[in-house]
Amino acid sequence: MGSRRVLVTGCSSGIGLAVAVRLAKDETKRFKVVATMRDLEKRGPLEKAAGDLLNKTLVIQKLDACCEESIKECINSIPNRQVDVLVNNAGIGMIGPLECQSITSMKELFEVNFFGLVRLVKEVLPDMKQRQSGHIVVMSSVMGIQGLLFNDIYSASKFAVEGFCESLAVQAMKFNIKTTLVEPGPVMTEFERKLYEDAEKTDLSETDEETARIFRDIYLPYSRKVFTTLGQTPEDVAEQTHKVITAKEPPLRHQTNRLYMPMTALKHADPTGRLPLEAFYKMIFKHDAVFNATLGILRMMNWRKGNK
Ligand code: NAD
Repeated sequence: MGSRRVLVTGCSSGIGLAVAVRLAKDETKRFKVVATMRDLEKRGPLEKAAGDLLNKTLVIQKLDACCEESIKECINSIPNRQVDVLVNNAGIGMIGPLECQSITSMKELFEVNFFGLVRLVKEVLPDMKQRQSGHIVVMSSVMGIQGLLFNDIYSASKFAVEGFCESLAVQAMKFNIKTTLVEPGPVMTEFERKLYEDAEKTDLSETDEETARIFRDIYLPYSRKVFTTLGQTPEDVAEQTHKVITAKEPPLRHQTNRLYMPMTALKHADPTGRLPLEAFYKMIFKHDAVFNATLGILRMMNWRKGNK
């Protein structure tokens, strides 16, 4: 079998960079990777990570997920426009009380996280249909399954991504095109670092004192602990994405973090939605001692796993 061409978006950092490099390093050279980024000035870290593979199994190209022209230009430059696997990874985050966020910044987030995906799929789908083959892999999130306090807009964008893919997957299947939503929990990347750095500086004057206190004194310290306890590396997520892409029968959904699964399972356990709602409420507002103890146990489990 010849090599498959994979186009990955958002490769200047984090998960996108790690996925592009992991696929380019495939032991049996099954992939030619088109690693794309919005700003080619930021190619340094990817070039360094790709090393000898640069311009062999990995090429770097410009692609802005918010610009149709840029997407077309990139795909038209690929021989026969053949993208066998699309990894839609580009995304941005947003946390904080709703009252402190502008509609403009919410729309900007949807432009990247949701419409970016739609633009890419619109461009590659007709060719995939014609070839009767292809795989659309989308970097979603556990927040596309279960919403989380102060992540209202980000989570909404990932729910949109999930609904879009779940609907499209049925039609795609008719044309032998696979669809996979990769759903990481917390991942320690630039994304997360910048998000928390910005969150510390959030102007909370637009919200009431109680909400500001919950965000500053409960949510931020808790989510830091969650990231340090449950957080994966981008390389972990890349390894699992490689597995999904090379699987004979790729799943529609793949959660990358086993430690996070109990949180998303609550949703399926109770169709009324009360179970996850009350569990999250109690965990955050009533039983912080239990929450901290649970994180302690998980940290220990992670540590033991890492030392085996
Ligand atoms: P990151 O900030 O390191 O990477 C995101 C990349 O997207 C960056 O390289 C950025 O330049 C790029 N990007 C932003 N706007 C773009 C545009 N218009 N066109 C092209 N590229 C653009 O963050 P990451 O953690 O590697 O995030 C990658 C994906 O994983 C995102 O979709 C994110 O929602 C998802 N995710 C991240 C986490 C996490 O905790 N870090 C968890 C679950 C899911």
